[in-house]
Amino acid sequence: MNPLTRPGTRRISTQVRIGQVLIGGDAPIVVQSMTNTDTADADGTARQVRELWLAGSEIVRITVNTPEAAAQVARIRDLLDAAGCDVPLVGDFHYNGHRLLAQFPECAQALAKYRINPGNVGRGDKHDEQFSTMIETAVRYGKAVRIGVNWGSLDQDLLAKLMDENAAAAHPRAAQAVMHEALIRSALDSAAHAQEIGLGADRIVISCKLSGVQDLIAVYRELARRCDYALHLGLTEAGMGSKGIVASSVAMGVLLQEGIGDTIRVSLTPEPGGDRTREVIVAQELLQTMGLRAFTPLVIACPGCGRTTSTFFQELADKIQGYLRTQMNAWRGRYPGVEEMKVAVMGCVVNGPGESRHANIGISLPGTNEYPVAPVYVDGEKTVTLKGERIAEEFQEIVEDYVRRNYAPGVSRTVPARTVTIPIKAVG
Ligand code: SF4
Repeated sequence: MNPLTRPGTRRISTQVRIGQVLIGGDAPIVVQSMTNTDTADADGTARQVRELWLAGSEIVRITVNTPEAAAQVARIRDLLDAAGCDVPLVGDFHYNGHRLLAQFPECAQALAKYRINPGNVGRGDKHDEQFSTMIETAVRYGKAVRIGVNWGSLDQDLLAKLMDENAAAAHPRAAQAVMHEALIRSALDSAAHAQEIGLGADRIVISCKLSGVQDLIAVYRELARRCDYALHLGLTEAGMGSKGIVASSVAMGVLLQEGIGDTIRVSLTPEPGGDRTREVIVAQELLQTMGLRAFTPLVIACPGCGRTTSTFFQELADKIQGYLRTQMNAWRGRYPGVEEMKVAVMGCVVNGPGESRHANIGISLPGTNEYPVAPVYVDGEKTVTLKGERIAEEFQEIVEDYVRRNYAPGVSRTVPARTVTIPIKAVG
């Protein structure tokens, strides 16, 4: 276990390299995402991959579903490289992956990993033959494979076999337990088959995605108990908005706290016209709020109540969080450790000064009927009191100055006694 990256006892998995990114072992938990563009549109897909990467996605999956899509994969890789975006690409294959990988060797080469769903590689005799073709391609090109089983496309032959065995058993189990076992067996049997063909365990990642929170937790606990493969976590079909965020966070939070999971994706359904990068930000916030990694300085803000009837502090909290996230791309290389900074924006004197002292920088805004001043705390000490129309701008300048003074290379930073920070290793 790496005590810097995981609280609790970590399950030690076999480490897998995907391009320049490590998954499993003692590597930090990796954030992944997936495009929703037509891969045949190389420009549009490369643009979205880059957006996801800039938001913090460390691996991006793209659909490879048609010859037109497969024909564009190498071009997408070239466009990304030309734009300085080295994020590893994963190809998502269903039904025809064996043909596409054979017909488009430049696609097979450009991808860092192939996602293979054992439930969607053909039925009967064709299943093993087509699965083998894809694994042999991965071996030939030195690529990793995610064996990604999904509740909605479970291997029907295997499920039928397990259901029949269960029906004939002296003490049959509930249908749901048999379904869980079918998911696990589909993943583990496929992984064993891939290893027989010649794919090393250090090139295999497993996932068994379900849409039910309790189902996902039960299946991953069992998977973790029965194998050492690196595990990709994700609640499939999590849904939209707060429902999708809550369900994904609860399911993955329980597993991550138990040390299960080496890479995650939050599968949110975007609002119409919504921003695809939301799933990346939610995944990062899930890991950061659990203390497993740090990506962007966190803003601690109170919910507000009857003591603060203006929206000024909400606007300030939102503005500061947006500013910090935007700045991170420029700060990442220049100010190491800045992602661990905590900024408090509080609505009134009740909890404002106390919470501000716990943060690296905090501001306590005036509540209703309070004297209209905003004391600022830096490393636990009150340093200045802001007032007037420019409180937001002046506070942002204080944050910028703090970052320059405390996170420039070679600066020894004073950490306030009551601030707890967890040092986190960066990926890659
Ligand atoms: S800090 Fe003040 S404004 Fe914020 S929730 Fe607490 S009492 Fe309400």
